[in-house]
Amino acid sequence: MKRLHPLWLGEACCDKSVVSPGVGDGVRIHIPILGYLIVADSGRRILVDTGIHRSHIEDPDRTWRGTDFAAALRPVMRLEDSVDHRLAVLGLRGSDVTDVINTHLHFDHAGNNDAFPNATFYVQRSHYEAAVDNPSFPNQYWRLEGLNYHLLDGETDLGDGISVFPTPGHTPGHQSVLVRLDSGQNVILCGDAIYEEDNVRHDAWGGHADPSQARRSALGLIERARGLKATVLYGHDAEQWKTVIQSAGWYQ
Ligand SMILES: [Zn+2]
Repeated sequence: MKRLHPLWLGEACCDKSVVSPGVGDGVRIHIPILGYLIVADSGRRILVDTGIHRSHIEDPDRTWRGTDFAAALRPVMRLEDSVDHRLAVLGLRGSDVTDVINTHLHFDHAGNNDAFPNATFYVQRSHYEAAVDNPSFPNQYWRLEGLNYHLLDGETDLGDGISVFPTPGHTPGHQSVLVRLDSGQNVILCGDAIYEEDNVRHDAWGGHADPSQARRSALGLIERARGLKATVLYGHDAEQWKTVIQSAGWYQ
């Protein structure tokens, strides 16, 4: 029985306007940093996003010190928030992970790519090319000798009931993930295609690189979810997370 485990990988402290401009601007909030582990019957252990690099537990400003971004978004991580700790609780080590899907290569989604030396990494080609040598996507966390990237061109079936589809706008070539569970339940992992419910409720897409493209992608994702009766898990929604942990803590 395939299982999908949402993983809490810490928080970031930011102004509400970072995620939902025009909705509660000026309020400091904590947003969750999330990843997901899918354990498939085939033996594959597939991780979706890897969180913020574990060194930020000791040094929250490690990545953005001295830049405007340092005040805009500050990591808040405890020891137990590191992805290797979350996997250890599930009985796994980094070397056990066979596949990593990065929705995109921002530092809060690809920060621990170095911890998965045996994995094949799946990223949209257009995204990878936009991220190379681009300081918005700190290359030190993902562009590493020995990591095996498999670049994708559009919607792709990755097997075991898992597929990815492009949702650009947050970044070029951003992708979201559809997981078809054995129970018949479908789950869509948005990544940052939709940060939180307020984006949908208030039609607020100004927090993305290309807001009108982000809006189109988000509406397309919601349409797809409706057709598949899929549960939609947002990228950084603190309120939604409470409902996730109130459930069993996993989906199957
Ligand atoms: Zn993010």
